Amino acid sequence: ARKKIIAGNWKMNMTPSEAVALVETLKPLVATEDADVVFCVPAIDIVPVVEAVKGSNIQVGAENMYFEEKGAYTGEISPNMLVDAGVKYVILGHSERRGYFGETDADINKKMKKAFEHGLTPIMCCGESLEQREQGVTMDFIRQQVKIGFQGLTADQAKEAVIAYEPIWAIGTGKTATTEQAQEVCGEIRKCIAEIYDEATAEAIRIQYGGSVNAATAPELFAQPDIDGGLVGGAALKPDFGKIVNYK
Ligand code: 13P
Repeated sequence: ARKKIIAGNWKMNMTPSEAVALVETLKPLVATEDADVVFCVPAIDIVPVVEAVKGSNIQVGAENMYFEEKGAYTGEISPNMLVDAGVKYVILGHSERRGYFGETDADINKKMKKAFEHGLTPIMCCGESLEQREQGVTMDFIRQQVKIGFQGLTADQAKEAVIAYEPIWAIGTGKTATTEQAQEVCGEIRKCIAEIYDEATAEAIRIQYGGSVNAATAPELFAQPDIDGGLVGGAALKPDFGKIVNYK
């Protein structure tokens, strides 16, 4: 059975000192052996947060990274910088990166390859807009995102990767996808991985749901056969995150 992975995406919230205080608050609330617990934090918070989680079950992730190792790329953070700082996971291709900062599937594919080269586990986000859902093109769109995102990755790499299904219309809106909607798409994503690779890879890869997950909606979502945990925004900044992690 796949181990659940429950990750917080802090987005552009929490100064370094606020971040350390939040870790201290959440540390006892998210203690569990049943799931992998990841805090994905702003780049400037990574060093103090890695220090603050020492001795706990919490692992640290980044919210983005660049696909080059060093050089004249003002403002960017490289994979080896993340590794050296103690980061294990990196969110790639969040819809906010795609929408506000113009990231393409091809960019995200380069980042996926770089993440694996450096031993980082990518959490690759995909998800449709409301317009796409209404037009009935959700699965075509997500298949495309997954296909290009995983291009050139081996089955062994794909087995280690995490995919987060985040319908854009459910992010920050308080409008969680229904359990049926979330399970349907996560199941289709797993089929897509089986088509690209094989059944064993599809069985191994972990697929999260994200979009207005809260303590009330988490238990039913995470009980679905193809939903292996969540990527949580707003509720990850509150003690509620403890309830989401210990949803059973
Ligand atoms: P919310 O949980 O705030 O809707 O954010 C979801 C998200 O974008 C996580 O990456």
